[in-house]
Amino acid sequence: MFQGVDFYRLNDLLNEEERLVRDTVRQFVDEQYLPHVREYFARGEFPLDMVRQLGELGVLGVTIPEEYGGPGLSHTIYGLAMQELERGDSGLRSFASVQGSLVMFPIYTYGSEEQKRRWLPQLASGEKIGCYGLTEPDHGSDPGGMRTTSKKVDGGWRLNGSKMWITNATLADVAVVWARTDQGEINGFLVEKEFAGFSARAIKGKYSLRASDTGELVFEDCFVPEENRLPLAKGLRAPLSCLNEARYGIAWGAMGAAMACYDEALEYAKTRIQFDKPIAAFQITQQKLVNMLTEITKGQLLNYHLGKMKDAGKAKYYHVSLAKRNNVHQALQIARTARTILAANGITDEYQVIRHLLNLESVYTYEGTHDIHTLIVGEHITGIGAFR
Ligand code: FAD
Repeated sequence: MFQGVDFYRLNDLLNEEERLVRDTVRQFVDEQYLPHVREYFARGEFPLDMVRQLGELGVLGVTIPEEYGGPGLSHTIYGLAMQELERGDSGLRSFASVQGSLVMFPIYTYGSEEQKRRWLPQLASGEKIGCYGLTEPDHGSDPGGMRTTSKKVDGGWRLNGSKMWITNATLADVAVVWARTDQGEINGFLVEKEFAGFSARAIKGKYSLRASDTGELVFEDCFVPEENRLPLAKGLRAPLSCLNEARYGIAWGAMGAAMACYDEALEYAKTRIQFDKPIAAFQITQQKLVNMLTEITKGQLLNYHLGKMKDAGKAKYYHVSLAKRNNVHQALQIARTARTILAANGITDEYQVIRHLLNLESVYTYEGTHDIHTLIVGEHITGIGAFR
């Protein structure tokens, strides 16, 4: 099994439960996922047959309480699970992030008791799949400009518009969709796949996150009954709060991808012989490896402390932005450096680095681009918003 990358003995700080979940997910990734990911990535397909196993592992809605079918574990454990899933592939972690943070979290936080009882247990077990529709073709970084409309009609709402770049779009049984009323208020809806006027289609031709489903959601006079509106979600704060949950998991996940790249590059450097020596014997290669390890260690410390802050209810959205921004940026640099160590072999799918590198390009963009997180932290420390 993967031995981990733990230069500063963070393992010593983890409690028994944290270690158990991390090691269980690690073993699943090694034994069940990694042997197949290459084929799924090549085919541009998400491994749908593994969803129930993810449910059994307890990685779908990690912090959701047991009374709603979740395991009710800590945010630190949620982070560790995301780290291990993304060591497999960002697509696997994306699935769990969307299901847990972007679908179950809003239902748990903003849903009615009936909505919670109906959806959460089935989403936790993987019996049902969810997706999250916020981004639109013309509104990515500024979701407040969304054009998807919801009009009040007898017994419910009529939705019109479209959502773009939606993870799990064509797999989902239920979509959490954000739409604007005539008065400009933003509401959240649970749109079920059978609803008339609702359709989803896959986005083809991706070079990144190929082992993940990404698509478009289209609403053409789609009727959504009042009982499918999230009653407690009011305004843009509601969808943004969900993103905050997912971004937290991404900060951990990115370090998982970085660990996979570092581990592969280190092994390769020790065995690849050039000029009669392993390339690990050259100073430049050692410098690359040390830089990678340094950034992984810093990212892990950031995640661990952020996890404990979140468990104590002290982590604010700007703390999460800093971690997402730093860790994804560093993971992308680490994947690129690892690729240079593997050189020509690093561009083939026989190794993992190119897959992680391509995936991390999406991770850098979604859930708030690197630039947007810069502006979020910048606004917090200066008190001046620089978005427009
Ligand atoms: P734009 O907003 O058009 O940005 C273009 C560039 O301009 C970026 O570099 C950006 O940083 C920069 N920019 C924009 N505004 C500013 C500013 N004020 N100051 C400085 N620079 C700025 N969305 C969902 O709702 N649900 C999902 O499940 C989902 N899954 C995704 C999966 C994948 C694989 C991808 C690639 C995207 C996904 N997204 C999803 C969408 C994602 O969140 C958006 O792509 C992201 O928010 C950026 O929007 P955009 O691509 O429209 O870029």
